[in-house]
Amino acid sequence: MRIGVFGGTFDPPHVGHLLLAADARDALNLDRLIFVPASAQPLKVESPAVASARDRLEMIRLVVADDANYQVDETEIDRKGLSYTVDTLEHLSARYPGAQIFLLLGQDALESFGQWKNPERIRELATVAAMQRSGAKGSRPGASAKGVVTISTRRVDVSSTEIRDRLRAGKSIKGFVPESVERFIDARGLYRGGRTVPPEEDQ
Ligand code: ATP
Repeated sequence: MRIGVFGGTFDPPHVGHLLLAADARDALNLDRLIFVPASAQPLKVESPAVASARDRLEMIRLVVADDANYQVDETEIDRKGLSYTVDTLEHLSARYPGAQIFLLLGQDALESFGQWKNPERIRELATVAAMQRSGAKGSRPGASAKGVVTISTRRVDVSSTEIRDRLRAGKSIKGFVPESVERFIDARGLYRGGRTVPPEEDQ
C-alpha cells in the first residue's frame, strides 16, 4: 500500500491544501492520503494556531469526509505539546507495516526540513515527496536525490493567513475553502476576533 502523509496546522484547511493533496495522489499513485493536523509546530511557536486543536481537527474531518481515500490521523492532536513528524511517522509505520510512506512537503516545509527533529530517521521511515509549485524559483520538476522525489504541483496563491485576514476584515471566503468548512467557520464564528484556543492548549 502506498500512503501519503500530509501534515500542517490547517488553520483553516483550504483549496491550496486540497489541490496539493490531489496532485500528490496522482503523481505518487497513492492508495491513501492521511492528513495530520499538528498540535503545535516547533518552528511556528512564534505564531501559534488561532483556532483550537479541536476546531482544526473538526475542519479537517469535514475536508476528508467526501473521499474514501482520505483520512485524518489525530495522534499529534492527542499527544498535545510540540508535534514532531518523526514521532508521527514511527506511529504510522507501526500501524501500517509494509506500506510505503511518502511524506508530502510543501515549499516552506522543505526549506526548514534540515532543522526538523531527526531528519535522517524521517528519511528511513518515509520517502520525502518535495512538492514544488510549478514556476517556483529554483524548482526542478523530476529532480531527485536519495530518498527524495520531486513532484510538480500547481501554483495556488492562497494561504490560511490570507483566509484569517479576510475573515477578520469581514470579507467572504467563498471559494477559498470547501463549503462545509466555510459553514463550520461561520457557525463557530472562527477567526473574526482574536485567538479561540482554550488556555490549557497554550501550556
Ligand atoms: P499559514 O498561512 O497559517 O502559515 P498555510 O496556508 O501555509 O498556513 P499550513 O497548514 O501551514 O497552511 O500548510 C501545510 C502545508 O501545506 C505547508 O507546509 C505548505 O507547504 C502547504 N501549502 C499551504 N498552502 C499551500 C498552497 N496554496 N499551495 C500548495 N501548498 C500549500
